[in-house]
Amino acid sequence: MLIVKKFGGTSVANKERIMNVARRCTEDYKAGHDVVVVLSAMGKYTDELIAMAEDINEKPPRRELDMLLTLGEQMSVALMAMALDTLKVPAISLNAFQVSMHTTSVHGNARLKRIDTERIQRELENRKIVVVTGFQGVNKYDDYTTLGRGGSDTTAVALAAALHADVCEIFTDVDGVYTADPRLVPTARKLSEISYDEMLDLATLGAGVLHNRSVELAKKYGVPLVVRSSLNNSEGTVVKEEPTVERMLISGVALDTKAVRIAVIGLQDVPGTAFKLFDVLAKRNINVDVILQSIGRNGTKDISFTVDDKDLDEAIAALDENRQRLGYKELQSDRNIAKLSIVGAGMMSNPGVAARMFESLYNENVNINMISTSEIRVTVLINEQDGVKAMNAVHDAFKLAD
Ligand code: ADP
Ligand code: ASP
Ligand code: MG
Repeated sequence: MLIVKKFGGTSVANKERIMNVARRCTEDYKAGHDVVVVLSAMGKYTDELIAMAEDINEKPPRRELDMLLTLGEQMSVALMAMALDTLKVPAISLNAFQVSMHTTSVHGNARLKRIDTERIQRELENRKIVVVTGFQGVNKYDDYTTLGRGGSDTTAVALAAALHADVCEIFTDVDGVYTADPRLVPTARKLSEISYDEMLDLATLGAGVLHNRSVELAKKYGVPLVVRSSLNNSEGTVVKEEPTVERMLISGVALDTKAVRIAVIGLQDVPGTAFKLFDVLAKRNINVDVILQSIGRNGTKDISFTVDDKDLDEAIAALDENRQRLGYKELQSDRNIAKLSIVGAGMMSNPGVAARMFESLYNENVNINMISTSEIRVTVLINEQDGVKAMNAVHDAFKLAD
């Protein structure tokens, strides 16, 4: 078997944990499997590097920030190969350049385009454990890029797809995917299985346990994906196309406190307004989520939407630059909001799911600012300070607890 194993920051945070990971990888290797290990930076090292950058320059050039951030993962893989050496297991560390992981050019949020597998395959044939840097890539200018925070999961799944691995195991600091973040909802329960689609929505809507693009890739290439703990041997959660366990109405609840709301007031109520507005943002690679348009009055209307807080400044600047063309009166932004979502394939065939969510929010006196739905999710925008209380209330209303 060819196994890709990815370990996150907490799992390699210190010497003991690195040795623990090394031992776990050795077990598979000694059982005769080919093992590729993908690592994140140790502990909170990526945050520390960002803080160092911002200490020198409040808005560090994105190319240079990526250059700096690649250090975190490079440190982990080298130390892991050294740890494996102490266990007398042949291993080699490789960074994105050495493998050749090609990405788009956007710094800080690049997408993997192609991975050359030749070098990795050669090392595997020589019976080495291959330890690869997560999170980083190389663009067409031969510059380092990074895949967005949490992007090592995506490196692992992309490698598993490119190498036709038998399984991709994501090891982290929780036992698997839960019905809600177990750190915020104490009654959350571990799921034994979840579909790619539900996991993709949960990941996109704030469940940071997996990088959303990793789920997208796993679905696209049918990569068998398992989320497990690096600290114990419990079963974990299998992410797959069609779960075999009985489907619950709701699989999970997610909270995203990084969303910010922008309101564009006094737009002309004519065809093309929304197109022009969102085109300005799309050209800058800014993702827009929940959108609300008011009913037109006196020839004008308002459009509100959410973006990630890291994109707020750029979104405002882009709208400002295009003020004449877009013809709005005023821009407002609000950081004090959170996005709360319920996700579940079961809701497709069950009316009343949204009503039950709204009722539980009403019981907690939580006001809803905006609502958006799809076949398998309901998202509401609420005040940030209500976030955790609302999440627990909704979670318990659907009886997802242990
Ligand atoms: P890693 O460094 O291993 O990539 P992350 O911090 O990125 O770890 O992801 C694991 C964290 O995701 C957990 O510690 C947990 O707090 C959080 N999390 C959020 N939503 C969920 C969920 N639905 N199930 C499990 N963990 C979740
Ligand atoms: N080290 C990177 C981060 O902190 C990538 C990852 O953890 O997946 O975002
Ligand atoms: Mg992560």
